[in-house]
This record gives sequence, structure tokens and C-alpha cells, in this order.
Amino acid sequence: MDYQALAELLFPNITATVDEIEARYPARDLPEGAKVTRFAPSPTGFVHFGGMYQAVVDERLAHQSGGIFYLRIEDTDGQREIKGAVEALIRTLSAYGVSYDEGIKLDENGTLTEVGAYGPYKQSQRAELYHVFAKKLVAEGKAYPCFSTEEELEEIQATDKKAEIKNTDWHVAAEQKRAAMLAGRQFTMDEVKAHLANGDPFVIRILANGDPEKKTKFTDQVKGTLEVPENDEDFVLLKSDGIPTYHFAHAVDDHLMKTTHVIRGEDWLPSLPKHIMLFNYLGFRMPKYLHTAQILKTDENGGKKKLSKRDMGAKMDDYRSMGYATECVWEYLLTLLNSNFEEWHMQNPEKSYLDFPFNIKKMAVSGCLFDFTKLNDVSKNVLSRMTADEIYEKALDWAQEYDTELYRVMAEDPQKAKAIFAIGRGGKKPRKDLCTWQDVRPYIGFFYDCFFSVDRAPLARFDAADIRSACTQFLQTYSPEDEMNIWFDKIKAIADTLGFASDMKAYKANPEAFRGNVADISMFLRIAVCGKENAPDLYTVMHILGEETTRARIEALIA
Ligand code: GLU
Repeated sequence: MDYQALAELLFPNITATVDEIEARYPARDLPEGAKVTRFAPSPTGFVHFGGMYQAVVDERLAHQSGGIFYLRIEDTDGQREIKGAVEALIRTLSAYGVSYDEGIKLDENGTLTEVGAYGPYKQSQRAELYHVFAKKLVAEGKAYPCFSTEEELEEIQATDKKAEIKNTDWHVAAEQKRAAMLAGRQFTMDEVKAHLANGDPFVIRILANGDPEKKTKFTDQVKGTLEVPENDEDFVLLKSDGIPTYHFAHAVDDHLMKTTHVIRGEDWLPSLPKHIMLFNYLGFRMPKYLHTAQILKTDENGGKKKLSKRDMGAKMDDYRSMGYATECVWEYLLTLLNSNFEEWHMQNPEKSYLDFPFNIKKMAVSGCLFDFTKLNDVSKNVLSRMTADEIYEKALDWAQEYDTELYRVMAEDPQKAKAIFAIGRGGKKPRKDLCTWQDVRPYIGFFYDCFFSVDRAPLARFDAADIRSACTQFLQTYSPEDEMNIWFDKIKAIADTLGFASDMKAYKANPEAFRGNVADISMFLRIAVCGKENAPDLYTVMHILGEETTRARIEALIA
């Protein structure tokens, strides 16, 4: 068979040569050791937590090494493509501060544009490139056209499935499939010409020469050394519409775009034999691979299962509506990505998570457990370390979209809101009241009359006369100018007059001798002023509320 002539027959419009294409994609001018990574989503939906996990690895590895991180859109499956998905995924990456150097971006007007010299970065625009390499493989007798109709192929697959259902020997089905495949390899030039003249659709298949009994060693950067069988399947390179399969596009794109590290889900591991064969056939050097562990969650019975699309936490955009700060989600991702991240963070509390030396060796090899308890824990810590100004800006931004009433009161008096957020912040042991922005309203709401309400339940076990008397006495002696210890001495004095212990030690030694203690008196005032027992430092609260509001609230309780 004259393979060169066959190639011309199948690709009459492809005139560019492989060398010409290679010349368009020169080696990247990067420092020694710089990594080139890519995030390569299909625009078929939202960014999944597992996808973000990979994107963070891409970003960290590239930028930590002075390399390049680019975004490639794998839109070869037009039927599954969702309108607006590319824009949405770019916005998600940007919301999380996962910045990339090249690829498809959104300009100021929200229009998609391309940045970088290694494009096009959308597979649907790279048809010529795939065809040049497919033509080369055909010309070298390493790939061939297959005119089997869809029905014929389906029949082969059906045989497969039937064998499976009946539980008969799998090998029989595999043999049949193989035989059909081998039969497809037998054709003459005249037959090809006749098919083409007839307008018959065809696919381009690789001519596999592997022996699956033979295994080669392969080192994955995450999984370690694996035994990979040789490929013996004549898998499709170009579909009948000329669009490449994932396998073929992966080899051509990652080669031309000079990817050094492919970070992708472990579900691609079974396809590795195909990729090894393709890179080999094409004479490309293989990139390094990091097959990332699946993200798991605990199910109702305590077992572990895959975090599915429909699970809470799967969709990156949902974190925003749930009120998680992006910084918190990033840090949580890092705790999952590198087992030593938390330890590092404790030792370097003042450093940004971007200073953390991310290490491939510390990545989970299999099954990475996602859970909200841990996320919340990380989140509280991250928010507790932010300044009052940062909290104010971020909470305000969230409230503008999700809680307009809260937004209004916070925006009306920024000084007041910042003073509230400053309570218990900045010290060695900052308060951890906030986990998500949804906690802001219950935490600070009582400072604003429009949200204020009183829960009297904690007062029920006390004498109403004691409560009234304590509050009245407080109003008689209260002066907003008092320093904290003087303010508290006055409360202690009230305790004494009512037969409540002002000295906690004395109270503990003999509780029966008292009607209560000074903490109870403070609690009466706290209920009056904050409406609830669990609230930040009362002295500071009164200060922020101001004398008028403080008095009005205490009077209301007396009444
Ligand atoms: N488009 C592929 C996916 O979404 C990309 C896999 C890869 O990173 O190579 O699964």
C-alpha cells in the first residue's frame, strides 16, 4: 500500500507539513526547571471542586517555578457544550484568584479573547493542526481510515455488552472485537476511493501494535511507578466529522503548547497506554503526569464515596452563595493538597498561603476526603486572622448580593461596622465568631435597631424584681466615660446590694449563701443590650452603641 498516496487521498486540503507546524511552536524561553501547566476543562458545566483542586496544582506548580500556566478549552464535544460555560468558568477561576498567563480570557467588555503565542487555545479552532499530524501518521502507515458504519460498530459493541450480561467468557467478546478491528485494517486503495466517491463517512484509527500481555514501567508524579500494559486497541484519532478524540488532541496540544506537567484526574489513568503509544508514534517527548486522587465524601453509613456533581460543595460557585470567603476555600484546598500545609501555616502565621512551598510529594495518592467540618474549621481560622477592614470590605461585597438589608446598615455607617468587627481581633487568640458571611447578620445584627430582638429565656430562672433592680441601678450609675474597670466595679457594687456575690471565689466556696453572682448581673445587662447571652465584650458593645441606645435598651427591658 502506498501510504503517502492514501494520506493525500484522505487529506487533500492539508498542505502544511509537520515541520511547518513545529516551527510555529518554538521551545518556550523559560528558566531551567520552569514548569508549563494547563487547566483543560470541557465547557460542559460548572467548575467542580475536583477541577479546582487540579487548577490550584497547575497554578502553584507553574508560578512557583517561574513557568507558565495556561487555560485550554476542550470543546470537541459540541453536543455536550453548554452556552456561556466558558465565560462562567473563567469568572470562577478569577473569583478564586487562580490566575493564568495564557489562554482564553475575558476582556473588560466581557468578550472572550485569546492571550499567548501558543494558541489557538480552543480545540475547536485547532482542526488544521490535528489533521496535519493525522495525515503524517497515515502517510507513515501508523493510522488508517475506517469506513465501518455506526451500525457495524454498534454491533461490535453490542456483542461486547451481551457477553458481559451473560457473563460468558469476556475474552470471546474481546477476540470478536479484535477480529472486527483487524478486518477493518484490510482494504485496498480502490475500496478507499470508492468509499470517498460515495461520500461514506470514515474515522481515522491508530494502527495499534502493542501486546497487552507486555507491561512497561511508568512513573506518575503522584501515583509513583506503575505497570502499564501496551495498547492493542485501534482507537479513534479523528471522528467522522474530523474532530479529534481527547487522546489525539491531548498528544498534539500538549506537545505543541510545550506542556511539561499534565495534571488531570485519575480517571484518565486507564487511557495511559493509548497516550504512551501516541506520543511514541508521533515522536513526541512525553510530559510528566500527575494523576490526582478522586475527591471523596463520607456517606450516610460512614462509608466513602465520590463527591458527585449534585453533592453540596461540588460546585465551586456555590461557596460564594453559601458565604465562604474565597481565601478560606483556597486554604482548605491547600490543606487537602499538601498534608503539611497546616503545620507550615502555624509556623508562619504572618505569611500568605501563596508563600507556601507546594510540594508534589505531599499530595494525596488516592481518595482525598472532602468535609465541611474541616472546611469550617479552616474558614474560622482564616477569617479570625483578617483585619476588621478586610472583613468589612468582603462581608459588604457579599451582602450586596445576598443580604441587601445587612448591606444597607453596613454601608450606612462603615466606621460603626468596622468597630464591631474589630472587637476581639488582632490579638494572639482572636475571636472566631465568623465562619461564613452568613454568620455576619446573627453576629452583628443586634448592634442595629432594625435587627434587634430580645431572647428573654436565660432570665427565666431569676427573680424579675432582681433583674429590674439591677438594671435600674446600672442606669443610675452608668457613665459612658468610665474606663472598663470602673464600669465593672459599678456592676460589682450592684451585685453586692442585691445579695449576689461580687467575688467569684467567695461564690464558688459557698454558692448557697448568695442569690447569684456578678456574672448573672452582667448577663441581665447583656440580655438587655445585646438581646442574647452569647455576644462580644459588653463594655465595648455599649461603647459602640452609644449612651442613648444603651440606656433605651436597658429601659425597655425594665419596662
Ligand atoms: N477535558 C478533559 C477533562 O475535562 C481534560 C483532562 C486533562 O486535563 O487532560 O477531563
